[in-house]
Amino acid sequence: MIDRQKLYEGKAKVLFATDDPHVLIQYFKDDATAFNGVKKGAIHDKGVINNRITERLMTILEAVGIPVHFLERISEREQKIRRVDIVPVELVVRNRVAGSMAKRLGREEGEILPRPVVEFYYKSDPLDDPLITLDHIAVFGWASAAEVAWIQQTALRINDVLRGYFASIGIHLVDYKLEFGRLSEDPRKLVLADEISPDTCRLWDMKTGKKLDKDRFRRDLGEVSEAYHEVAFRMGLFTTSS
Ligand code: UDP
Repeated sequence: MIDRQKLYEGKAKVLFATDDPHVLIQYFKDDATAFNGVKKGAIHDKGVINNRITERLMTILEAVGIPVHFLERISEREQKIRRVDIVPVELVVRNRVAGSMAKRLGREEGEILPRPVVEFYYKSDPLDDPLITLDHIAVFGWASAAEVAWIQQTALRINDVLRGYFASIGIHLVDYKLEFGRLSEDPRKLVLADEISPDTCRLWDMKTGKKLDKDRFRRDLGEVSEAYHEVAFRMGLFTTSS
């Protein structure tokens, strides 16, 4: 029997307890926010699509030996995950310049980086997730030196796998956000957590450059749900692209 006690409600997902203290249910909503909640809306079927896309990408990563919190998808919008304490540091991995990097450094969106760049942000809504350095992580004790080394190395392995996978379906993986957590049943063990979806990645069609991600919502480009469907369709998750 599944106990439906709500533990946490975020902008795009809800976490519920189960009768196993080390297992939670992650529920994907259609709600969409941008600019730290300033812009609000909904993307039709987003929860269903992101549940499926996250399932597929986490499964691919697990198959190459990357530990993940994902256990199994149990419904259209729900998946079982291992309970973790989230490390309060978000990683952004970039293969091309876009978004905040373009703005901050005054560079053109689309510029190909000579190697992937990993950035760290402090996970804090009131502070709007500020960019931080490795020294901040160390002095404030957000993660140990060994954890940071593992997270950085793992992020680059994830990048190799995901970049190749998206290239195989005609999509440039421009950048994306990753979160890691310590398993509740053994906090020495870190796993990839949260989601990987068009909400958290920039995905550009290789032929046309069309944006197939949340930038369509952020920048009012239209055809938002269609773009999410297109990604899922190319991943072989649905039989039609709309
Ligand atoms: N991202 C995210 N959650 C965040 C911040 C960023 O999923 O809280 C993702 C975003 O979708 C993009 C990448 O991380 O794929 C880099 O985002 P960026 O720093 O350029 O910020 P943005 O331009 O989205 O504000």
